[in-house]
Amino acid sequence: MEAMMSLSLASDDVLFMQRLWRAEGTYKGKLDGEWGAQTEAAQQAFDSESRRIEVLGGGFDTRSEASIHTLCLRAQREARRFLARVLGTGLRVRIISGTRTYAEQDRLYRQGRFGNPGRIVTNAEAGESNHNFGLAWDIGVFTATGGYLPDGPEYDRAAAAGLVPGLEWGGNWHRLVDKPHYQLATGIDLADLRTRFEAGSAGPLYA
Ligand SMILES: [Zn+2]
Repeated sequence: MEAMMSLSLASDDVLFMQRLWRAEGTYKGKLDGEWGAQTEAAQQAFDSESRRIEVLGGGFDTRSEASIHTLCLRAQREARRFLARVLGTGLRVRIISGTRTYAEQDRLYRQGRFGNPGRIVTNAEAGESNHNFGLAWDIGVFTATGGYLPDGPEYDRAAAAGLVPGLEWGGNWHRLVDKPHYQLATGIDLADLRTRFEAGSAGPLYA
């Protein structure tokens, strides 16, 4: 979030941030995709609280921090506790991805499809992933020399250490097992979440 320059954001991305900050309770303005004073103030409030949570929770590696800072505040707190539990086992784990705007989700969905290069990494189109609502993160396991391990038994060990009530793990999914993936349990289905998020009425889920 902090790395984003407001001037470079497309209107859709501004709208996305407004929805997220509306859910957080820091944005009271219109959901109009226009970057104005209220959006600016909401970003400052959000960034300030994110930094406070970081100081309280102890800092992690740069990549994990960058990913965690894109999450909603409730998920930031949970992701930090999660990562601390996992690192406590000695596993070399980082949080390598957090929130994606609809545009970013769309780019990811198109990877490996429609003649685009890369391998298929998601079945979720824009608006179909908890990553699109600030509620989900992915981990990566790394070797002692910094090499990335895309799979392996370490992902099960990470879940054994990190999973607690209130979190959901993609490793427990049946349709598409996704062991790097974690999300806050919202208790409602994704379509309902999306409707509420877009309408600016998802606040209770983010409290
Ligand atoms: Zn994921």
